[in-house]
Amino acid sequence: MANERMPGFDTLAIHAGAQPDPTTHARITPIYQTTAYTFDSADHAASLFGLQAFGNIYTRIMNPTQNVLEERVAALEGGTAALAVASGHAAQLITFHALMQPGDEIVAARKLYGGSINQLSQSFKSFGWNVVWADTDDIATFQNAVTPRTKAIFIESIANPGGIVTDIEAIANVAKRAGVPLVVDNTLATPYLCRPFDHGADIVVHSLTKFMGGHGNSMGGVIVDGGSFDWSREGRYPMLSEPRPEYHGVVLHEAFGNFAFAIACRVLGLRDLGPAISPFNAFLILTGIETLPLRMQRHCDNALAVAEWLSDRPDVTWVSYAGLPGDRYHGLARKYVPKGAGAVLTFGVRGGYEAGVAVVENVKLFSHLANIGDTRSLIIHPASTTHRQVPDQHKAAAGAGPDVIRLSVGLEDKADIIADLEQAFAAAAA
Ligand SMILES: *Cc1c(COP(=O)(O)O)cnc(C)c1O
Repeated sequence: MANERMPGFDTLAIHAGAQPDPTTHARITPIYQTTAYTFDSADHAASLFGLQAFGNIYTRIMNPTQNVLEERVAALEGGTAALAVASGHAAQLITFHALMQPGDEIVAARKLYGGSINQLSQSFKSFGWNVVWADTDDIATFQNAVTPRTKAIFIESIANPGGIVTDIEAIANVAKRAGVPLVVDNTLATPYLCRPFDHGADIVVHSLTKFMGGHGNSMGGVIVDGGSFDWSREGRYPMLSEPRPEYHGVVLHEAFGNFAFAIACRVLGLRDLGPAISPFNAFLILTGIETLPLRMQRHCDNALAVAEWLSDRPDVTWVSYAGLPGDRYHGLARKYVPKGAGAVLTFGVRGGYEAGVAVVENVKLFSHLANIGDTRSLIIHPASTTHRQVPDQHKAAAGAGPDVIRLSVGLEDKADIIADLEQAFAAAAA
């Protein structure tokens, strides 16, 4: 028997999880805009509710359009299963809900998306989930932060907003020694540039809102189960290791093996907390993912050209982009994101806070807004916007000092992108 060919990444981005609709022969995955699904019989309903059979019940818990999206992202990341939810923050909430009990701790990288810093330090605190910050530039700070109450380590593969590449393997080794899963937010890299499971991660989360959807039109998030973590240790992760009374006493890790985490997130977290993705958003994000490899490569090429141009400007004091050969993260970039360091970069504008505000107010092609991962080039001044709520003393550590400007370089002609920055600098100086 001939070996079945393993499809490549570009093929999976278009085909994984999908086939022509069996009833209508529609080629594209339809938008299954339905709330509920009929049961064949009372017995069929009972087996679905009891987790003895897989099938659709109610769109808060699963939906066929969403299901194709989940299979596609799981295939691209090399995971065993995935769960799509309403946003990136919902993916983080559902992930930690499955891992944490009151009084438990997350060890998290200090350099994270500003919204994640708020989520972990403010809202999670009110659940009794405590965060201990560590520094990705000093792996020992992760090791030293681990206590018996640590239940997870959380990092970003490429950190937002600084354009920093994280040494995933070194932190995965800390997680393995501690016996806790490593959760990696892979939003800025996408699986086209980096697959955290290949470097020892156990769970990957995404904001699909950004590069995966890629067109700035839909919110979404996803949790991908790497299938690698052993949930059996008694008492450590009760959602996975203790009998569930509402499901006939089933123990999820025994019943579902290497995709038990994705199941726990769906049948406990999503069921009870409720942030389901709309089928329409799942459809738009699926369409976006079909061109992910093409878009990400162009994003990287344009971002590198912009970073090189900025490096030569007298009105720019520093540029942080791991794709630049002189960048302090270039070595890590060559290991973890060899095809390119992504679209997001930061730089310091001479003149500090006022100059930063003046540049963002004078761009024309760039859009001044709080997002990344659009086809369009985007610009923001984090200190006055996304990181405004981060206390001043933590702003610089989070990569959001007063002079910092963040770009998400889009897919336009790179000459036009550069020309727009040039005229904005000139207008800001005037
Ligand atoms: C945007 C973003 C999030 C949050 O995702 P939403 O879809 O906006 O909820 C999380 N992490 C990173 C790195 C992000 O850029």
